[in-house]
Amino acid sequence: MDPSSTLDEVRELALKCTKCGLAQRRNSVVFGEGNPASPLVLVGEGPGDQEDKSGRPFVGAAGKLLDRALLDNGLDRTDVYICNIVKCRACDWRGESAFNRPPTPEEISACSDWLDMQLTAIAPKVILCIGSPSANALIRKGFQITKERGQLMNCKYAKVAIATLHPAYILRQRGQRSDGGYSLLVEDIARAWMHACVD
Ligand code: SF4
Repeated sequence: MDPSSTLDEVRELALKCTKCGLAQRRNSVVFGEGNPASPLVLVGEGPGDQEDKSGRPFVGAAGKLLDRALLDNGLDRTDVYICNIVKCRACDWRGESAFNRPPTPEEISACSDWLDMQLTAIAPKVILCIGSPSANALIRKGFQITKERGQLMNCKYAKVAIATLHPAYILRQRGQRSDGGYSLLVEDIARAWMHACVD
């Protein structure tokens, strides 16, 4: 079976999903984008405000930092595939104002079938988990991102998984004397790409 046509079928169904409460006030199901034939898939936590509005993953400030880290490795979004463990924006509403929050375990579980079908269709060699919620979902519960990032881990969807710091975390951490972990993100992408390109 052609993997990209299978992915298209999964995407078409996911775009209509109402399996959890996040469907109620979303603007977009942010399914994922990039090169479905890539040996490397990057998986984050979920869409935020700008992703919800645009329907694309990682397009806000964190996304720009991720693009820069890819570029520092000679890569761009056409070289990899990017998606999230949860496809709709998790937020609390106060009146007409929305406030981002982490997805609940129930929401992650409800969305896991889409991620399962998506990663099975793509069948990448390497998965790079962006941030701890993704590593908890795809590597193992209790994953300690600051201690275990950059290490080769088992994952049912790929030959190997590696976890790295989320660019939003890096933006919060960085200051005059620290890059906030940006160099580690660049290093982890390099390692993931190297393993993805090995037969
Ligand atoms: S978050 Fe996932 S399970 Fe929930 S409505 Fe969106 S696509 Fe469906």
